[in-house]
Formats: sequence, structure tokens, C-alpha cells
Amino acid sequence: MTRATAAARSEATAGAPYSRAGAEGTFVLEAGLRLQGASPIDTLRWAVEQYAPRLAFATGFGPEGLVLFDLIARHRLDVDIFTLDTGLLFPETYRLWRALEERYRRPIRAVRPALDLEGQASRHGEALWEREPDRCCGIRKVDPLAEALRGHEAWITAIRADQTKERAHARVVEEDRRFGLVKVNPLLAWSHDDVWTYLREHDVPTNPLHHMGYPSIGCWPCTSPSRPDEHPRAGRWRGRIKTECGLHLRQPRTPLSSVDSKGA
Ligand code: SF4
Repeated sequence: MTRATAAARSEATAGAPYSRAGAEGTFVLEAGLRLQGASPIDTLRWAVEQYAPRLAFATGFGPEGLVLFDLIARHRLDVDIFTLDTGLLFPETYRLWRALEERYRRPIRAVRPALDLEGQASRHGEALWEREPDRCCGIRKVDPLAEALRGHEAWITAIRADQTKERAHARVVEEDRRFGLVKVNPLLAWSHDDVWTYLREHDVPTNPLHHMGYPSIGCWPCTSPSRPDEHPRAGRWRGRIKTECGLHLRQPRTPLSSVDSKGA
């Protein structure tokens, strides 16, 4: 943390009523209020100022992640960019990954599970995703993410509020108690149309599967096409209650009304 940041945090937290997580918790709450309605690039710049070089961005190459990747790469922001390579991504996704690295000349680090697919099959049986998708996501996504985030202070995500009911309760800046760091969501207020307008205007490469009936793309065993009248994530874990990998679960939180928003 820079000296300026420490001073700002001290000033921001003076006299605040919120005490659960002390000064850091209040700083995060007030930052969330201050950045409500800020543009994604302003939010990203704020995050870099506060947390670089201990700032990470995990992208799954969805349209929203591509907006943030384009902004981070074009503005040369000091962010550790990585993707969770489950070993089960579509070939189109792997090709997009390479195309992005070539075009932007910016590496996207691969974060892989401790167990490869053979190891998972021998320990937990074949096609674990069909029997216990939560456990499979835990092994291939959640645990590797926790490991990749170790040593970071904050991470950037590409979630939008209208994607799922869990995401509707997120804030632009929030504590991520699950991973023990700050979570920054620069695109929270953007719509699906905002995202695609940006991608077109900036000629950002996208996954060709989006034009083949897949609005939301994850691992191939758990992703199917969606009909136009369905929710864009209807093809993820189709036929199950599951809607999230477990990376963005709703967390208990302090109401914003408990923070004095003057000057925030
Ligand atoms: Fe496993 Fe499916 Fe989760 Fe991928 S999305 S980690 S295949 S359960």
C-alpha cells in the first residue's frame, strides 16, 4: 500500500460507524459508493492506484472479460491477468486465448488445477461434472483461483449485475470474504448491449461460438446453446439448479446505509 493510499484510507475512515473489519472495511465500502457510476476505465485506474502490483484479473474470455482485457491491455495497466484453464475449454476458446495474446502482445497466464483430468478421473471417477458439478468446479476452478489469488490484495472481475441473482447484489468495490481480498467489478452497471457495442467499436476478437447460439461459454461438458427466449446463461449446467461456478457467490454484507456517504 502506498503512503498516499494509507493517508487516504485513514482520512476516509475517520469517524466512520462501521467497525466489523476496521478501517480497511470502511475504506472498501466508501470506495464502492464513490465509484458507483464511474466508467470502467476510471474504476480500473483507481484499482491500479490502490492495489498494483498486487492486483489480479481472472478472465474466462466472455464478452465482458474481453472488454476489461482490451482496456487493461490498451492502457498498459499493471494487472496480473490470468485464466482458469480447466482443461475442458472449447477449442474455440483456446484459439481466442492465443489470438488475444498475439494481437495485444500481452500474456494471459494459465492457472491450472492441481489434478489433471486423468488424476481427477482416477480419484473421483470419470465425468465428475455429470455427478457432482460443484465438486468438479471446486477442483478445477475455485481451488486454483484461491491459489492464484494468494499474495494479491484485490482482484478484478467482469461480472454484471443483471447476469444472475447472486451478481445483482454485488458492488463495484466489495470485500471478498471467501478469498480474503478486495473485489473490483468495473462492469457491474453495464448491460449486454453496452458490452457488445464496446466490442464492435473497438474491434475486439470474440469467441465465434457466441454467433452459434452460445451467449455464455464455460467448459464444454457444462455448456449448451440457449434459445433466444431463454436467459443468456440458461445453457450453463442446463437442467440443474447450479448457476455459478462458485467464484461469485453472494456474501453476507454490511448495509451501505451504515456508512456516512458524505464525501464518498
Ligand atoms: Fe467441471 Fe463443468 Fe465446473 Fe468445468 S464447469 S469445472 S467441467 S463442473
